[in-house]
Amino acid sequence: MTGKANPFESLQSQIDEAAVHLDVGADVLERLKHPERVLETNLTIELDDGTLERFKAFRSQFNGDRGPYKGGIRYHPAVTRDEVKALSGWMVYKCAVVNIPYGGGKGGIVIDPAAYSADELERVTRAFAAELRPFIGEDIDIPAPDVNTGQREMNWIKDTYELLENTTEPGVITGKALESGGSEGRVEATGRSTMLTAREAFEYLDMEMEGATVAVQGYGNAGWIAATLLEDLGANIVAVSDSSGAIYAESGLDTRAVKDFKNETGSVQGYRDADEELSGEELLTLDVDLLVPAALENAIDADNASEVQADVVVEAANGPLTPTADEILTERGVHVFPDILANAGGVTVSYFEWVQNRQRFYWSEERVNEELETIIVDAFDDLTETYEAYDLENFRTAAYVVAIQRVVNAFEESGTFP
Ligand code: NAD
Repeated sequence: MTGKANPFESLQSQIDEAAVHLDVGADVLERLKHPERVLETNLTIELDDGTLERFKAFRSQFNGDRGPYKGGIRYHPAVTRDEVKALSGWMVYKCAVVNIPYGGGKGGIVIDPAAYSADELERVTRAFAAELRPFIGEDIDIPAPDVNTGQREMNWIKDTYELLENTTEPGVITGKALESGGSEGRVEATGRSTMLTAREAFEYLDMEMEGATVAVQGYGNAGWIAATLLEDLGANIVAVSDSSGAIYAESGLDTRAVKDFKNETGSVQGYRDADEELSGEELLTLDVDLLVPAALENAIDADNASEVQADVVVEAANGPLTPTADEILTERGVHVFPDILANAGGVTVSYFEWVQNRQRFYWSEERVNEELETIIVDAFDDLTETYEAYDLENFRTAAYVVAIQRVVNAFEESGTFP
């Protein structure tokens, strides 16, 4: 993270910027800028060679005014306390903007998972689950997957928690495998909410999705599902990229065939039905109707923002625009639909997973997708109504205005203790 803005300071300045438009006292605002608590722990496990190693880990519970804390656990060597605090704050506003009854949390372990065996990762995960046990629970704090964690880690955490608590409580964690109480539709949920946001955005802006040109940066879970669902709506996916580079086809790519090719070869480059290969950077500045950044944070920054030619940007990734890039695109009239709405499908279907776990009654994929569509379309309408009513400069500020107001309302209704 060297050379980059401290994410926790970025979160605090985003709150300050949105709060300008709201009638919220500085004392209330101060509360919204800091986590309620942060667990910092050191996990010591035995490696396969018999030696011991210590790993630092965090869990931040940012705000619980609207419900239990909710948010992922990431495994990455660059995890820091401030990053985890910031990510937990963004979860508060993501859950609030789609109006699901959760607060925000986030966790992380400072580890490069590629350097350890599956057995070692299991021991680290179970050690973290044991440390987290007094602080989590289906009515308290519900972790989920994030960078470098998935169904496997969620199942280990659930199993450790249930063993230590002598209970069955699948709703203590989401993002589980279907057999362990996961939900239909969870894997596709983030790409689906990205597609729904783009569809609603085009309608709002009086743009035609049929035949619209689309470039997608990142062909992983979020990017490839968004590309395929947009293709199914009639859009022309002219370019996609992954960490190897980009491919371009003027008449549109067959997104499923590209996915099969990537599964076989490990990258999108080399796909035979493309017109040409581009660099990942070139994809970001193509003259398209819609750009979907679905890879990593800070993809568009002060250096390339003035070259972005897309009319609409829908953020599937978390934080793909730096604050300066955001300002440049706003000034240039590019319509950016923010991550806290566009990729909220993941946490929304996690919410459905939790509801199903608590009821021990499981929904069809069709029902999951219908309920997700209702939530995203309602949130989109709330966002555009606020954008117009407050005459705001962009849709990101509108999303934060909606979200902060909801958290403040919940806080004011509950009051303070003591
Ligand atoms: P993933 O690991 O499945 O896919 C990431 C893709 O990005 C890969 O194809 C990788 O090759 C590509 N990539 C990496 N660096 C790149 C670069 N410089 N240029 C182009 N492509 C590059 O991850 P994912 O789950 O799809 O997550 C992508 C983004 O979406 C992340 O920001 C994540 O935080 C966000 N997100 C994901 C979910 C979810 O449920 N999967 C939910 C919310 C937010």
